[in-house]
Amino acid sequence: MAETAQAIQIVGLHKKFGPLEVLKGVSLSARQGDVIAIIGGSGSGKSTFLRCINMLEMPSAGTITIHGETIDMKKDGRGGMQPANRKQVQRIRSQLAMVFQNFNLWQHMTVLQNVIEAPVHVLGLSKGEAIARAETLLRRVGLYEKRDIYPAFLSGGQQQRAAIARALAMDPLAMLFDEPTSALDPELVGEVLAVIGDLAKENRTMILVTHEMKFARNVANHIVFLHNGVIEEQGPPDQVFGDPKSERLKKFISSVH
Ligand code: ADP
Ligand code: MG
Repeated sequence: MAETAQAIQIVGLHKKFGPLEVLKGVSLSARQGDVIAIIGGSGSGKSTFLRCINMLEMPSAGTITIHGETIDMKKDGRGGMQPANRKQVQRIRSQLAMVFQNFNLWQHMTVLQNVIEAPVHVLGLSKGEAIARAETLLRRVGLYEKRDIYPAFLSGGQQQRAAIARALAMDPLAMLFDEPTSALDPELVGEVLAVIGDLAKENRTMILVTHEMKFARNVANHIVFLHNGVIEEQGPPDQVFGDPKSERLKKFISSVH
């Protein structure tokens, strides 16, 4: 795959929940290695947009193409869409690792079990291979010593780092982060941002919803400001933060600082 290939291409994405239209035609392209930060007020559609990219939510209209493969959707007869090929959706979803605000670790499994579960059951790795991969990743996020601990005994920052290791264990084509630090106590935010910042330097494609504006400015190469289901403004970080054009974006930036 050439380095400049489109990793993620979203065209004209709409999402309705009943009568409520949450996304009103959002288009976005990420090339391999792009780090895109999505910012915007609460309720602007940021989570819904991320969830549509990996089909956790079904778009109402629009196309999603991941590394050249467009997800097949068909009309569901009720004004919405449904996957035309569930196997394809499962496969693509397994290639887009999602990291959630509330970590979503499996509570009945140790850290190590959380990290090896999908590589064994979805990728078909042997347990030995999966453990070797998991241990490398747990070292990387500073949790090797905690591998046999259950999530309930970890701090929020440790749980989120475990969730990031779990996401990386799938060797994903791209990573989607939905406010990965907003459930954390302030003193734990830095350790999680450090891990994500480290990943951002690795030519990994990442789309990151965050309220950490300084972090977004430092790690992202493109910023998208979502307002009321549309991209109100976008551009390189220095432009979006240093010279915002729209009044809404100016207001948003001053409100979060
Ligand atoms: P953000 O992440 O930017 O805060 P969301 O994407 O979570 O925004 O939500 C955008 C809008 O969609 C909100 O008005 C929210 O209440 C609504 N919404 C989100 N998920 C659902 C759902 N499953 N059913 C109905 N409405 C939803
Ligand atoms: Mg959200």
